[in-house]
Amino acid sequence: MFRNAIKILKIFGIDVELDISWFLVFFLFSYTLSRHYYPQVLPETEDTIHWILGISTTILVFISVLIHELAHSLMAIKEGIPINKITLFIFGGVAQMKKEPELPAAELKITVVGPLSSLVLSAMFGIIYLVLPRGIPISEGVWFLARMNLLVGILNLIPAFPLDGGRLLRAFLWLWKGNLLNATRIAVLAGSYFAFFAMGIGFVMLFMAGTVWGLWYIFLGWLLYQAGQSSYSQVALKESLSGIKVKDVMSEQVQVVNIGMSIEELIEEFYRYKFGAFPVMEDSNLKGLITMNRLKDIPKSQWARTEVGEVMVPLEHCLIVHPDSEAVEAMMKMASEGAGRALVVQEDRLTGILSNTDMMRVIKIKTMFGSLD
Ligand SMILES: [Zn+2]
Repeated sequence: MFRNAIKILKIFGIDVELDISWFLVFFLFSYTLSRHYYPQVLPETEDTIHWILGISTTILVFISVLIHELAHSLMAIKEGIPINKITLFIFGGVAQMKKEPELPAAELKITVVGPLSSLVLSAMFGIIYLVLPRGIPISEGVWFLARMNLLVGILNLIPAFPLDGGRLLRAFLWLWKGNLLNATRIAVLAGSYFAFFAMGIGFVMLFMAGTVWGLWYIFLGWLLYQAGQSSYSQVALKESLSGIKVKDVMSEQVQVVNIGMSIEELIEEFYRYKFGAFPVMEDSNLKGLITMNRLKDIPKSQWARTEVGEVMVPLEHCLIVHPDSEAVEAMMKMASEGAGRALVVQEDRLTGILSNTDMMRVIKIKTMFGSLD
């Protein structure tokens, strides 16, 4: 999702990164605050102070968003769900969980702490504002932060999946009826109503009031709609594939190649078997995987002299799954690591190979003929 992100710090063992879009919004936000907002509320104050306030409140808004995401992350870790990283981007932040919560109670706890932390931050800034004397620059900044965190808390509570409020709605329905897929369907439906509502407001603003800000509402509504649809198909796919093990899907007829084979001989094997990759063996020990892609940078003149072992993906860099693990988990792992295939290994022995093509075939059968039970 975020290919152009820069890692900035590590906090509680979680990597925090900034997406490239963050810099744009950082600039726009501090510019708008420094040139339009603060000059209006503090007309007597000089421009330098407006800029200092504008930039420092922007930084504090992002720190507030980071605290919101950290709250989700720390609760997730407490519930046994590891966190990949937190990314700050144009619309705020996102904490990437390694897997989805398996119980509604866990999802409730992980979700609720986010908006809650924004509301607590809002209250804290509100109290500081009340204590400070009126009319000084700092108190205006604090007042802005109190309202901003309130807005973040409230917007996130809109019951539109995949926003926090939609996740809460889903968790409640899931807890109540015990059916995750159905709960997701309802929460996504509620989300699409909000999305269409936002887009409707956008069109009214654009065509009746003639304000370009309407475009933002249309854009945000559309994003929300897309996000809801894609989370629904993910859950639906996961549900329909649950119970299917790696060993039910993998190819067992594995053709292997020897580590000492030359590239020239290897290419003959590619022609003969028409596989995209071969596991590499040394005697009866698995050593790695050789894919067609690894060969593309080797000049033809070197083919006879280069051995498979020199260009293969070594075993420690291969994606390895157990035959009894869930196929859908393996698929998620393959997707998140950008791997086209995984080696299926049980007690150090190669028992099969799992490829995207194998998974696609099962999904196709499932969608065409439905479940067998
Ligand atoms: Zn949140």
